[in-house]
Amino acid sequence: MKSLTGSHHRRKLTHRAFLGLGSNIGDRKANLRTSLSLLEGAELRVTKSSSLYHTEPMGEVEQPWFMNAVAEVETILSPEELLHRCQQIEEEMGRQHIIPQGPRVIDLDILLYDQLTLNTAELSIPHPRMHRRRFVLIPLLEIAPDAVHPLLKKSIRELLKDISDFSVVKRVNSA
Ligand code: ADP
Ligand code: MG
Repeated sequence: MKSLTGSHHRRKLTHRAFLGLGSNIGDRKANLRTSLSLLEGAELRVTKSSSLYHTEPMGEVEQPWFMNAVAEVETILSPEELLHRCQQIEEEMGRQHIIPQGPRVIDLDILLYDQLTLNTAELSIPHPRMHRRRFVLIPLLEIAPDAVHPLLKKSIRELLKDISDFSVVKRVNSA
């Protein structure tokens, strides 16, 4: 029966993760949108996405401002599979790994994955710097203020109160 296959297709996928998206080369807004549509498929659904934010680059490298956003996804992919999917999309979109922490067409980071904590050579979850970055926490506050950091045991709302990053994060007026 057609209707039953339909409901099967809409079944909730097993894991919930949050991804951080960033771009500071080319059409940054289009790059963020493209990365989200490339992520979508049978194994992953984007269930929420934040507004876009103009953000001041952090660190030593002199480079253009970023556009950042975060997304909530439901997926059957394991953390490693999700990382590889993100890296594959970064590659497809022409990201070149030249300067560490430098300009990029697209950067896709796994911020949270269920309440999992993981630390391998390839992958750290939660993302080791997420709690110190306004450009991550401010968009997260929009879509998941009560999400809990499984190591620090604090919500996004609480993490933002403690933060000592004062770099500029400006919401883009959606036209
Ligand atoms: P960054 O995002 O820190 O500017 P990259 O995107 O080049 O730098 O990622 C560097 C490495 O970080 C990747 O090769 C990946 O294996 C590793 N990494 C560790 N934890 C994560 C995570 N949670 N999300 C994405 N990449 C991660
Ligand atoms: Mg990255």
